[in-house]
Amino acid sequence: MLTYEIIITDCNKCAGRQRQGRRQNEKERTMKMEKLGRNDHCWCGSGKKYKQCHEAFDEKIHHFELEGHMVPTHEMIKNPQQIAGIRESGRINTLVLDYVAEHIREGMTTAEIDRLVDTKTRELGGIPAPLGYEGFPKSVCTSINNQVCHGIPSETDVLKDGDIINVDVSTIYNGYYGDSSRMFCIGNVKEENLRLVRVAKECMEKGIEQVKPWRFLGDMADAVNRHAKENGYSVVIDIGGHGVGLEFHEDPFVSYVAPAGTEMLMVPGMIFTIEPMINMGTADIYVDDSNGWTIYTEDGKPSAQWETMVLVTEDGCEILAH
Ligand SMILES: [Zn+2]
Repeated sequence: MLTYEIIITDCNKCAGRQRQGRRQNEKERTMKMEKLGRNDHCWCGSGKKYKQCHEAFDEKIHHFELEGHMVPTHEMIKNPQQIAGIRESGRINTLVLDYVAEHIREGMTTAEIDRLVDTKTRELGGIPAPLGYEGFPKSVCTSINNQVCHGIPSETDVLKDGDIINVDVSTIYNGYYGDSSRMFCIGNVKEENLRLVRVAKECMEKGIEQVKPWRFLGDMADAVNRHAKENGYSVVIDIGGHGVGLEFHEDPFVSYVAPAGTEMLMVPGMIFTIEPMINMGTADIYVDDSNGWTIYTEDGKPSAQWETMVLVTEDGCEILAH
């Protein structure tokens, strides 16, 4: 599931708040680093002395910070125990989407998809994260055709022949969060919409290829945006992905339109979503005032989105949920 609730009220303000949040975190990080002695226990919880654990790692990050780059806070860097927990939650999330893939069909209501997700998640020992999140009324987001994201399952929305739908599943398992989404094509989908769904998946995959330590989130965004543009599509600017794992939505904000070499430095232990929304027409969107959630394309043309949750590793990335 996407973030950020503030975007729903005012996109420009949201971007401002995001940046402000980052500056605050940078300040906190610097303060913590000053307090930690070389012989103190490392901040990561390993029990090792700082000088034998993350000191060199922090110095490397600090070097990028001095060059003017945005860098992650310690809170964004998960330790092995947390990663193991988040990996399990991601595994459950993927299984729930596999279950949806087996059962989704023409004539089904989106409320039925909601029940499938809720039942399967609980059967696997998890809790659906969207339910009650910021007041969201259902256990999954279902977004059809010109709905970009945050569609609310309903007894009156019936899947028709030719529909394309995003099903966005998020799970809490033992307190850890998993998050991913997929597109499903219902019956005979027309060629131009099939192409949109395929290219949206390729955009995500090209983004994932760029997730490597000591590179930038902008490198990933640039790969996504470039592929969308080459195919005549646009990428939604006002909504992005997010850090995830200990909370449903964590920093950083993840853009899919930023230039290469910009945005936050990626380091091992960071976990976030790659979930670009690809529009057939313009990137402009609006929120449904009647429910305060569902995002639509301004021009009424279709939108497609795939979402993967990734962990930055020492030499690339690991997919934690898809
Ligand atoms: Zn450490």
